[in-house]
Amino acid sequence: MKQKKIPFFASLQVKYASSYLVIFAVVLVLLNTYPIIASQDLLFGSKRDSLKSQAAVMSSALMELETLTPEQVERVMTLLNITGLERVLVTDPAGLVLYDSARPEREEGYQYALLQEVVLALRGYDVFHSAYQSRCFISTAASPIIYRGMTIGAIYLYEADRTQGELLLALQQNLRTISLVIAVVTLLLSTFFSRMLTARITALLRAIRIVGEGEYGHRLQPVGRDEMAHLADEFNQLTDRLQATEEVRRRFVSDASHELKTPLASIQLLADSILQNQEIDQATVRDFVFDIGEEAGRLTRITEHLLALTRLDSLPKGSTVPVDVSKVARRVAGQLEPVASGAGVAFRFSLKPDCIIQCTPDDLHQICFNLLENAIKYNVPGGSVLVEVYPDQDQIILEVADTGVGIPEEDMPKVFNRFYRVDKARSRAAGGTGLGLSIVRDTVRRHGGWITVRANHPAGSVFTAGFPRYEPPEEGEP
Ligand code: ADP
Repeated sequence: MKQKKIPFFASLQVKYASSYLVIFAVVLVLLNTYPIIASQDLLFGSKRDSLKSQAAVMSSALMELETLTPEQVERVMTLLNITGLERVLVTDPAGLVLYDSARPEREEGYQYALLQEVVLALRGYDVFHSAYQSRCFISTAASPIIYRGMTIGAIYLYEADRTQGELLLALQQNLRTISLVIAVVTLLLSTFFSRMLTARITALLRAIRIVGEGEYGHRLQPVGRDEMAHLADEFNQLTDRLQATEEVRRRFVSDASHELKTPLASIQLLADSILQNQEIDQATVRDFVFDIGEEAGRLTRITEHLLALTRLDSLPKGSTVPVDVSKVARRVAGQLEPVASGAGVAFRFSLKPDCIIQCTPDDLHQICFNLLENAIKYNVPGGSVLVEVYPDQDQIILEVADTGVGIPEEDMPKVFNRFYRVDKARSRAAGGTGLGLSIVRDTVRRHGGWITVRANHPAGSVFTAGFPRYEPPEEGEP
């Protein structure tokens, strides 16, 4: 059997491992983005609040001045003593810088704050802007200074927070390291788990292949109690059945060839004797040819019986009709009457009327014929055969009892086996094939019946077959 190669990416192992990886990749992406975004938002929020409140404090302090001059503003700012800000800028309504913490030494000439935030604040807006750039939180805020409804100036605050920036960066780096560790562990674990799973599938595949190649004794070791263990168990049971069937088949073939070989060998021997013996007389030749004919007849019977068995195994039942068992038994006994009287055996009957079963007439004929023929074959001169047919509840019973040689107790279960004979010599002498009863058993079962054998008293055996009784359809039923 050619072993199909599974492409690497189509393999269950890769699919299983990658599904793990995809799930963890999603988790890791979330882990790396959500906390960062959330803490950034939190920081922006707190910056906005603190800058705005600082701006509010300054503007309310400055508003007291009514008119703003650089000296007064500087004085107020010194009094307020604001720390932690990179730059504080105060302008007049025209944007002229009155105070700039970044340039404490005031330069000559007029300085205008041309910052967008200042322009907006002078128009009466509160402005806040925050960004995270080059490991630093940059926040700017601007507010108008209003005195009696008039904008008398603007405050601009600028803060660059490196500490928080570094913290955020450290968080980011920590998360990245954790993610890397998780990714590596996931990769290793998923490879390990998927290997474990696929190793068991591979073992199952290998076992199927081995059994497929004809080694029916091979079994899987069930590991654990999961679905794979169930699968292994089912596989073992299937192989048990396969092995049993194969055993039956082998035995049948070997028995059949053995049975065919014996008459063939006899024919060969007889033919050789005639050819090699120059001085053989006419009468001996006739005897030998008669024996050859006998052996050929046996071969024909064996092949016919083998064919009958194969038909029973492979063909459907054929069309069944209601048949009266009593009538068929009587007819078969009539056919076998000459054989019976030749053997000094007498028939007796107890046949009840209306014993109808649903059956193929030929099959029922075959069953009766084989049973009655055996009852004569394995009988003694002066013996008798009692044929009984009677209803028993929803069954019809056919019973053939003889007063013959009987069957030893230990052989009784085996007489229905193919090629089984209690007394080989007697069977052979009587022209038996060892297949008659197995044909009977298979045919009876095919029609839903059963068959058993027991000892007859004081001598002989009783074969009993039961069939489901035929129920005529009710009026009006199709
Ligand atoms: P065979 O062709 O040898 O008769 P069967 O399958 O019909 O094969 O029977 C199997 C064996 O069972 C026979 O060889 C015989 O030994 C035994 N047997 C069958 N029927 C009887 C019987 N009525 N009385 C005693 N032995 C029987």
